[in-house]
Parts: sequence; structure tokens; C-alpha cells
Amino acid sequence: FLDGKRALVTGSTSGIGLAIARALAAEGASVVLNGFGDDSEIAKLCDELGATHSGADLTDVSQIEAMMEEAGGVDILVNNAGMQHVAPVEDFPVEKWDTIIALNLTAAFHTTRLAIPGMKAKRWGRIINTASAHSKVASPFKSAYISAKHGLDGLTKTVALEVAEHGVTANCISPGYVWTPLVENQIPDTMKARGMTREQVMNEVLLAKQPTKKFVQPAEIGAMAVFLCRDEAQNVNGANWSVDGGWTAD
Ligand code: NAD
Repeated sequence: FLDGKRALVTGSTSGIGLAIARALAAEGASVVLNGFGDDSEIAKLCDELGATHSGADLTDVSQIEAMMEEAGGVDILVNNAGMQHVAPVEDFPVEKWDTIIALNLTAAFHTTRLAIPGMKAKRWGRIINTASAHSKVASPFKSAYISAKHGLDGLTKTVALEVAEHGVTANCISPGYVWTPLVENQIPDTMKARGMTREQVMNEVLLAKQPTKKFVQPAEIGAMAVFLCRDEAQNVNGANWSVDGGWTAD
């Protein structure tokens, strides 16, 4: 049902973004991938999905502007690229703070402001932001990430109000822990910050948050993104949908 629609999914060479890109492509959208990685792996993904790829570094506004221009009119914008860093706030590396705010929050502002005029002109658009359970609640040692994700929720709600009469919606999807490289890579620093073993971090920090005691699968987020693109979802606007096994119900 997405034939003729162009979707840009940021941070889609891995994890959740890749699952969203796959799900949108399966419905017929023409997809622009973005993110870093091995050139031959990315070429394979482009072949598989009939997609193109932008290697833009989204912490750099001029690269975002070039990516948006190259993509042409984007009907479905998925702001998904993100990174994490785990450290107590008093030791939080200042440059990591700046990078995380730039990537997880400011990049979405830039892509959104650049995509909206085209969406308004076509009277159809979908802005889908991968936020997090950490856009609703906090955990220690993730100050930059949690600040950025709470900000992304605020940006999404504001944009939702501004575009509401133009056939465009803006929503967040907020996963709990999804088994991707982003989660796997934070285990060593969490072990250090909390003085725990790997098993303790998995069971007492990560899965302890999720009442289902299961990691969310990336494809479940892809399916939610597809639903948000349907006509039946035209009145889902400014929402922040949890897919977190019940974490934020607690
Ligand atoms: P991931 O590390 O698997 O993928 C991150 C993607 O972002 C990759 O494609 C990477 O190349 C890209 N990227 C990184 N820095 C970039 C930059 N400067 N410019 C452009 N692209 C860049 O991570 P993931 O777990 O799939 O996370 C995707 C999104 O989901 C993030 O916003 C993350 O905060 C959010 N999220 C993840 C989880 C989880 O448990 N994995 C939970 C909640 C929210």
C-alpha cells in the first residue's frame, strides 16, 4: 500500500532502523537508507531492498541538508539514528553529551523542518520518530540519551500540532530494550558503572525493566511503523507509543 511513497529512514544500516526500512520496503515504499557500515554490506542491503543509501553524518547539519536535497521529496520520514553513552553525570564526557544531543535530537529537527514543506504540498506525510522508554522515564547514568529522547517526544508533539490540518502526522515509537548492537555495546560500561557481571547487567538491569522478561524484536517496531503509515492511522498524531513489554506501565 506504499507504492509510490518515498521513505527516508535514518540510522537504517543496523538494528531497528533496518527493520523499519525492510518493513516499509515490503509494503512497496522506495527507501533511502542512511547510516554507517561496511560498503559491501550496505551495497547488499540496497540490492535486497531496492534502496539507495546516504552516508550522511547526522551530527553535521550541512550533511543533513545535502541528504534531504538528494532524497528529493520524502513522504515518510523516520528519525531513528541514535547512540548511547553510559556514565555518571559528573563524569559524562562533554563531547559525548554534544554528539548525543546532536544525533538523537537536533538531527530530527533538521530533517523534519526540511521534509515538511513537501509533505504539506502533497497533503500527505508521516513523521515517525524512534524515541525510547527513556523518553518517558529515566534510569541512572544515561543523562544525554534520556534528555535527548525526552526532547524528541516534545519535538514530535509540537510538530504534530503544527501539521495536523495538512494530512501529515508525527508520532514517536518508544521501544524498551531491543536486542541490537546499541544495547549489546552498553553492557561493558554498565558493568563498570554498576560493578556488575555481564549476566547481572542482562538480568538485573536490562530485562528487569521489562515485565515480559523478553527483548523486543526489531521487526515488531517495523510493524508499528507500517501501521502508522496506514490511512487507518490518520488520527494517530502526537502519540508516543510504547513497545516495551510493560516497562513504562510500572
Ligand atoms: P544501532 O546501533 O543498531 O543502529 C544505529 C544506527 O544509527 C546505525 O545504522 C548507525 O550507523 C547509525 N548512526 C550512528 N551514528 C550516526 C551518525 N552520526 N549519522 C548517521 N547515522 C548514524 O541501534 P538501534 O538499537 O537499532 O537504535 C536505533 C534507534 O532506536 C536509536 O534512536 C535508539 O536510541 C533507539 N532505541 C533503541 C533501543 C534498543 O534497545 N536497542 C531501545 C529504545 C530506543
